[in-house]
Amino acid sequence: MQKTVRDYIRTIVDFPQEGILFRDVTTLFADARGFRMAIDQLLHPWAGSRIDKVVGLEARGFILGGAVAHQLSVGFVPVRKKGKLPGRTIAQGYRLEYGEAVVEIHEDALTPGERVLVVDDLLATGGTCAAGIGLVERLGASVVGCAFVVDLPDLGGRARIEGMGHAVHALCA
Ligand code: 5GP
Repeated sequence: MQKTVRDYIRTIVDFPQEGILFRDVTTLFADARGFRMAIDQLLHPWAGSRIDKVVGLEARGFILGGAVAHQLSVGFVPVRKKGKLPGRTIAQGYRLEYGEAVVEIHEDALTPGERVLVVDDLLATGGTCAAGIGLVERLGASVVGCAFVVDLPDLGGRARIEGMGHAVHALCA
């Protein structure tokens, strides 16, 4: 039988902490057929839609988002953890299970009116994605949708992002 994207992802027990089942997508990225399938499927719902830029969320969103941007022949923009981008940035904080994190985007990376596809490997609580969307919108661009390889719906991310009015597309749960 034909392998699906899900078949290329492995689960690592107790990483990065005891009790966590970590979805490891490096095995998907390492397989030529699996990686191409994932990129093609991430784009599928937006065939025929205008997309001006792809925004990738650190870090695995860079690998996927770069390939998606190449496929669409549009530019790629990284949303990075605080302190990593060299130019002038705007920042957005968000809550983690324990503590808080901050992500940034270059303030000149998007122009008002641009239509953006947000890409990351996995949607859990949706905090990272919501912060990324916030940065995109503060620069005056609009989010066409958010694309993920894995959605963990029990953690509420899909409901949160859809509740913000954005389409969520995921290849597997
Ligand atoms: P959220 O902000 O939705 O709670 O968490 C999603 C972010 O954490 C994504 O950027 C994702 O890369 C990372 N993440 C959380 N858990 C996992 C996991 O099990 N596997 C992978 N590959 N990434 C994870």
